[in-house]
Amino acid sequence: MAEACTACGACVQACPMTRFAPGVPEADPMQVAGGMRALLQGGEASAVSLGWIGACTRSAACNPACPEQLDVALMMRFASMRARGALGEAPGIAVKTDSGWSARVKGFARLGLTDQEQAEWL
Ligand code: SF4
Repeated sequence: MAEACTACGACVQACPMTRFAPGVPEADPMQVAGGMRALLQGGEASAVSLGWIGACTRSAACNPACPEQLDVALMMRFASMRARGALGEAPGIAVKTDSGWSARVKGFARLGLTDQEQAEWL
């Protein structure tokens, strides 16, 4: 998938989390996406790319935006693992140290908040 990725940046532009990632709204989407691709190819990503990867909530809104029809959400998941030091390298983004964090997020997600509640509370 990384070889097929052209770093066009469409996934970055479609991402609902982009505006919450420091520096990403002002950055060139192609360069942000290029960092994700670089991580998958064994390279390094810029701080702004790492910020985007770290902000990913797995919405998969990126997938339909990809002109190469890549599973961008899966690419982001692997990039996130690399960025968090999956291969023994120093983490480039924060690693969760709170083991109960994921369970709390899942429980909160199951509350089934309406769109209005999400808009008001999240
Ligand atoms: S939209 Fe697809 S081809 Fe474009 S940068 Fe994202 S993953 Fe790569």
